[in-house]
Amino acid sequence: MVKYSHMIKPAEVIVLQPGYAVWQKRLKAQKADGTISLIKSSQNMIVDTGLPKDKDLILKKLKTNGLTLEKIDFVICTHGDADHISNNNLFPKAVLIVGFDIYHGDIATFFQKNFKIDENVTVTSMTGHDERSIGVLVKTVKGLVAITGDLFEYENDWKQAREWIAFSKQPKAHIKNRAKVWELADYIVPGHGPKFKVDKTVNILEKEMKQLKELLQRTVNVYGDVKL
Ligand SMILES: [Zn+2]
Repeated sequence: MVKYSHMIKPAEVIVLQPGYAVWQKRLKAQKADGTISLIKSSQNMIVDTGLPKDKDLILKKLKTNGLTLEKIDFVICTHGDADHISNNNLFPKAVLIVGFDIYHGDIATFFQKNFKIDENVTVTSMTGHDERSIGVLVKTVKGLVAITGDLFEYENDWKQAREWIAFSKQPKAHIKNRAKVWELADYIVPGHGPKFKVDKTVNILEKEMKQLKELLQRTVNVYGDVKL
């Protein structure tokens, strides 16, 4: 007997605020805020909630998209940094996913690698920036969109890998997971920039491993006796 799965129409990803990250004062300070995204599918979802200053922007942009705070079913935070979580409190009734924990009110359940919300939307491990970072894979009419948090900072960040490695807790895992998402996704919504199309002609794994080796040789080990 053939079983037909319940089909739903493709999801939509709307970037409510593209994040940004601009160095100031010679790498001592950065003007930065996280990307805030809306996913419309069988459920309405917000991915990352920015800084406290973004409250009014979220309210306004939800309205533009025909939604209110109460209509958001899930709030998903790619990681726990302040510029990605600071308006979670606007959505007390939404299911909250941070790290690998899923909160319904004060009841937590847990997942390891993937948590499927519906046919279009899967929350998935994207560790590297830190050990509990997650992202969201979304099937849309234009292809697969990966909302990655700080797995990617912005378009072309692979050209100066040291800029994102500076924030990375697990550089090697980070590089590998970036390459995986690069292969999988058609579009990336990065943690600190607008959505961009993935350039499949670029082998970022190769380019970034080379840069990581150079960085470590220069800065970490003065004796040159550590092999990477
Ligand atoms: Zn960030």
